Amino acid sequence: MKPLAHSYYCGTSDEQIIYETIGVYFDRICAQFPTTDALVVRHQDIRWTYQELAQQVNDLAAGLLALGVEPGDRVGIWGPNSYEWVMVQLATAKIGAIMVCINPAYRTYELEFALNKVECSMLITAEHFKTSAYLDMLNHLAPELANSKPGELKSKALPHLRQVIRMGDEATPGMFNFATVCSMGGDKEKKRLKQLQAELKPDDAINIQFTSGTTGNPKGATLSHCNILNNGYLTGAAMGLSNEDRLCIPVPLYHCFGMVLSVLACVAHGATMVFPSAAFDPLETLKTVQQEKCTALHGVPTMFITELDHPDFSQFDLSSLRTGIMAGAPCPVEVMKRVLAEMHMEDILIAYGQTELSPINNMTLPNDSLERRTETVGRAMPWAEVKIVDEEGHVVPVGEKGEICTRGYSVMQGYWNDPERTAETIDKSGWLHSGDLATMDEAGYVRIVGRIKDMIIRGGENVYPREIEEFLYQHPAISEVQVFGIPDDKMGEEVCAWVQLNAGQTMSEEELKAFCKDKITHFKIPRFIKFVDEYPMTVTGKIQKFVMREEMLKDLASSSHSKG
Ligand code: AMP
Repeated sequence: MKPLAHSYYCGTSDEQIIYETIGVYFDRICAQFPTTDALVVRHQDIRWTYQELAQQVNDLAAGLLALGVEPGDRVGIWGPNSYEWVMVQLATAKIGAIMVCINPAYRTYELEFALNKVECSMLITAEHFKTSAYLDMLNHLAPELANSKPGELKSKALPHLRQVIRMGDEATPGMFNFATVCSMGGDKEKKRLKQLQAELKPDDAINIQFTSGTTGNPKGATLSHCNILNNGYLTGAAMGLSNEDRLCIPVPLYHCFGMVLSVLACVAHGATMVFPSAAFDPLETLKTVQQEKCTALHGVPTMFITELDHPDFSQFDLSSLRTGIMAGAPCPVEVMKRVLAEMHMEDILIAYGQTELSPINNMTLPNDSLERRTETVGRAMPWAEVKIVDEEGHVVPVGEKGEICTRGYSVMQGYWNDPERTAETIDKSGWLHSGDLATMDEAGYVRIVGRIKDMIIRGGENVYPREIEEFLYQHPAISEVQVFGIPDDKMGEEVCAWVQLNAGQTMSEEELKAFCKDKITHFKIPRFIKFVDEYPMTVTGKIQKFVMREEMLKDLASSSHSKG
């Protein structure tokens, strides 16, 4: 390749885009690798081959059809990683229903918004996990459930929701049990399921993932079969996955990292999905890699750091590992070096992308130099065009900083029911604007150097300051609030809030945290809070978060100093 003069690079490939639905592709893989392990879920004692998984998925799909689910209906899924979650992903894809991923850490305020925003008619939910009592939260939002016949909910707060399916064996008023639904489909539904495979189209929307942004409330990024199947296939291909590989999946399923880069990457190549636990647990992950002889392991940088720092780390034999993906946040060079040396992941890939891109557009490859694998996020993947532009939208010369934009098969269809926000993100020529700052070198390798968008990445979870600010404004004592991130060695960043109270009001840090608890996700609750009378401003009246960040870091350093 000739050295680039301008920061534009398009990934190439000898292969064709897979222009099929997930259902058709999945059925073919199941027929091709019937006896290969498809799904291992250690915390639920599940071990299914592709043939068994196909049977389970078809039973659930037929049951959902019996309940009247139609192509295009929005079906929410809420809970930590489980075999039911994987079944729902594949069964909804086979029916053409749009699966809506709901963060298992969401609380009532966020759940209500998500279900109503995309008008979910069905919700499939876990019972409880750690501090999340899913059924209690649902009953709190929709007390009508207690007196409803299953499937006939009419709720004031959740006006579109009709059917709730709960996991687990206990019966709950107003809800179906997951296992019951799996046995509801008869011959008629099985026939319809077959017909549907020919009727559905690769460009149909099949998944909605919530992401936020500078505009406050979460938006539903809408992705098609073609978007996510190809992204899963390509990332699996880059890892060299085959039906002999076993991928350890500690990342959450509700995010593209779990459902695309893990589930679909495995399904696309007939590899085995191995889930160590319901939510990330470093010890279970290490045990799983050893006992299941996993060849690949995924994680955000914080997960790898926690595994490497575990006191028992050196006792595990991780020599079966070869590859995996680290993505979601900048990876510290030292961590990458330890992953290569101490976890034997010689072929690990660094990936960069965002939910709106299904999610990956750039990645390093195993034969890239160590320097490129530690300092860059690699080049554009096949069929993705990547460019770096200045504030006027002109492509910048190589080496210059600008916003990274992507165009191609992986760009989402848009934000559900939100043409304005969609138009702010995808321009008229089809380029998706990332809000991330980067440079590109002469060979097309990209370095992420910062962010234009106001976002915090805490332990791989995106936190949007505006969303927290809007939530806190609801408190009658709060006059103004500014949320921002400060660097943290382990979590990458931590959430800080500066709060100004209305005249005559008082509030403690504990009171503010208590106000957040049970309403917003735990990782959004500010870790550091400072009550202030004013904010640093520019002459034009723009609040300067970077000044607050510097001051907060000084405050924290001096308080830890005086304590120490
Ligand atoms: P999400 O939509 O949750 O996938 O988050 C996407 C955002 O995470 C991107 O816009 C980046 O700001 C950040 N991000 C993802 N991968 C990386 C990476 N490898 N290095 C730096 N930032 C990343």
